[in-house]
Amino acid sequence: MSNTTCASPQESLANSSFDGSIAFVLGTRPEIVKLAPVASQFPDTARVAYTGQHYDAALSDIFFAECGLRLPDARLEVGGRSRGAQIGCATDALDRLFARQRPAAVVVQGDTNATLAGALAANAHGIPLVHVEAGLRSHDRAMPEEHNRVMVDHLADLLCAATPGNVANLLAENIDAARIVQTGNTVVEAVHRHLPAPERRTKLLADLGVESGRFVLTTVHRPENTDDAAVLGTVLGELARIADAGWPVLFPMHPRCRAAATRAGHGGLLARLLVTDPIGYGDFLALAAEAALIVSDSGGVQEEVTVLGRPLVVVRNSTERPESLAHFAALVDPGPEIGRTARALLADVPAIRRQLAGRPSPFGTSQAGALIAAATRALLTDRT
Ligand code: UDP
Repeated sequence: MSNTTCASPQESLANSSFDGSIAFVLGTRPEIVKLAPVASQFPDTARVAYTGQHYDAALSDIFFAECGLRLPDARLEVGGRSRGAQIGCATDALDRLFARQRPAAVVVQGDTNATLAGALAANAHGIPLVHVEAGLRSHDRAMPEEHNRVMVDHLADLLCAATPGNVANLLAENIDAARIVQTGNTVVEAVHRHLPAPERRTKLLADLGVESGRFVLTTVHRPENTDDAAVLGTVLGELARIADAGWPVLFPMHPRCRAAATRAGHGGLLARLLVTDPIGYGDFLALAAEAALIVSDSGGVQEEVTVLGRPLVVVRNSTERPESLAHFAALVDPGPEIGRTARALLADVPAIRRQLAGRPSPFGTSQAGALIAAATRALLTDRT
């Protein structure tokens, strides 16, 4: 497929029509993790349209199998394009798909380009739209994700908000309370379902050559940390100093970060870290549970640490998940504050673990998938 024109959606299974289905539109790793618990509530009617925003196999294909989400019924293959082209091509492909095969409802999650494309296509056909993880706000207009999530919330017919703060954000924008339901976040269920048993965790640590409670786990992939060579150098430099101080830093590296680090000539800094390819979901959770500290700019990881009871340094200018900051996470700019905060949290690991152990996750319990499915069914009943 040419990179400049939109192609037709490739429907991979002839017998998997989207007609009358609950259509899940998604394009990235965290959407697979968080929509699988919802799709599992619709064993016969769920269909999946995958835009391929994350087209690297390590970020997508293995996640479908591991998270128990059915393989895509339609692939749109828009990955590798500009943001505008991803949104435009995915919307166009979905528009043509839904014109031929009309779903009963479209479900999208979060704030990606796939989320916005799914919302626009559903809206164009008057198909009821469900937004999972509604109401997050960073109030940072420099983030494309903030624009995506605001637009999708205003288009959606059913807004599934994880927390009271998310509900309040929606009401503050005059979104009708009748469209909003507080469900918790499906990530809680995902963590409980996929965290490996202790024996598997012990073997994983042995394979990687790290000890429980004696290493730091990190992920870095956001443009604000990777696009500028100097900023990326600062972040990697802080991580390398943590490693030099005796805390091995395990870094399953996102392809975006690897490409940026290579371009910027940061190989010397990476050599001081334990760099691996991205790892599967269960193994990542296992490492997060066994780490002394996590340093990350990920959205999903901010939620997962609250279920696992582990401390997190969030390397970002802003967050749309302030709930994590109350007890589990510290927000720091990409600079020396990373090392200072990490050192403070590493000073007494057992004490921090005890402190976090009894705290419930602000993102709810394992009910979110069932609550979202029930609200979706009620929406469809109301419409008939
Ligand atoms: N994750 C994973 N393997 C890795 C790194 C992350 O399974 O090597 C998971 C992580 O647990 C979380 C999700 O991927 O559920 C986060 O993805 P990402 O950081 O790409 O997206 P964001 O959450 O920032 O939108």
